[in-house]
Amino acid sequence: MMKVPSSVLLCLLITCLGASACYEPIANTSDSGSNQSESVFPEPESTAGESDPDSNKGSNSAKEEELVKEQGPANGGFRANFESNLKRHGIDPGSVLDTSNAVESRILAEYGAVFLTTADPPSKVMFTSEPEVSSFQSNAGSVAERFGGVTIELQPEAMNALKKAASVADSRGLKITPRDGAEAGRRSYAKTLDLWNSRFLKAADHWRSKGRLTADQVSRLKSLPIKEQVSEVLELEKSGIYFNTFFNNSILYSVAAPGTSQHLSMLAFDVSEFQNAEVRNILAEHGWFRTVQNDEPHFTYLGLKESDLPSYGLKKVSKNGGDYWIPDI
Ligand SMILES: [Zn+2]
Repeated sequence: MMKVPSSVLLCLLITCLGASACYEPIANTSDSGSNQSESVFPEPESTAGESDPDSNKGSNSAKEEELVKEQGPANGGFRANFESNLKRHGIDPGSVLDTSNAVESRILAEYGAVFLTTADPPSKVMFTSEPEVSSFQSNAGSVAERFGGVTIELQPEAMNALKKAASVADSRGLKITPRDGAEAGRRSYAKTLDLWNSRFLKAADHWRSKGRLTADQVSRLKSLPIKEQVSEVLELEKSGIYFNTFFNNSILYSVAAPGTSQHLSMLAFDVSEFQNAEVRNILAEHGWFRTVQNDEPHFTYLGLKESDLPSYGLKKVSKNGGDYWIPDI
C-alpha cells in the first residue's frame, strides 16, 4: 500500500479547488485575533430529564433518552462519531470510505470534520463521477440565496444558519459575503476534475518532454480511473516528478484531488471577510467552522456547538491567528 506524506496530504482536501483564486496558498492573511469567544449556538431541542410529570413517563422518557443518545456524541473519538453520524443519516459507513485506499483514509484523517455535520453528510470521502455528485446533491436538496450580489447554493440547514450569521453580522456593522463568486458555495464534480486536469495533463506532457516519463507511461496514466490516477500521481511526486503548475511541488498544493471538495456536499462557504475574528466568531456561533487547515477563507457547516466539538472527536489546531477543527486521529 502506498504511503503519502502528511505534508502532501495537508492540501488534499483544499476544498477551494473550484475557485481560481482560492486554492493557491494565501500568505499571512490572517489577523492576530483569536476565535475563543463563548459559543451562544442554541442548545439542541432535546428536553430529556425535564419531561412533563403528568406525561406517560415510562415510554416517553425512555424514548427521549434514546433520542438524546442518538443525537449526542459517541464515545470513541472521531472514528466512532464518523460512523454513528453516518448511520444516523441512514448511510452505511462502509460505502463512504474505502479503507483499502490510503489516499481516502488520509483525506478522512485530515479533513473529515464535515462528516460530523448535522445536515446531510457527504456520501463519499471521494466522489468519482458527476452522477454520483448529482445524486448526492439532489438527495440532500439545496436552496439558493443572494449574498453580496451573488447567488449561492447550499444545503437548506447550512443556508439557514449562514443567513442567521449574516444577519447578526449586519447588526454589528459587519458583513459576511462570498469570496470568488458563486463557487464560494455549491460546485460540480466537473469543475473539480477540470482543475485537476489543468495541472495533471500539462505536467504529464512536461515530464514526457524531459524524458522522465515515457509516452506509454503518460498514456497509461491518462487512462487510469481517477482514484488510481491520483494515487499514482502522488507516488511519482515522491521521486520529484511533480504535477503542480511549476512542476516543483505537489499538485495538491495547487488543486485538490477531484471529488474531495466539501463544496460538492454544499456544506462549505468561502468567506471574503475571513480575516475578521469577530466574523469568524459569529460564524462559529452558527455552526460554521474552519476545518481545512491552511484554507483560510473556507468554512464548513457542522451545525454543532463549538464547546461540543472535542466530544465529537475534533481537535483544535490554532495557526496564523485562527482555529481549525480537524479529526483527533
Ligand atoms: Zn472553499
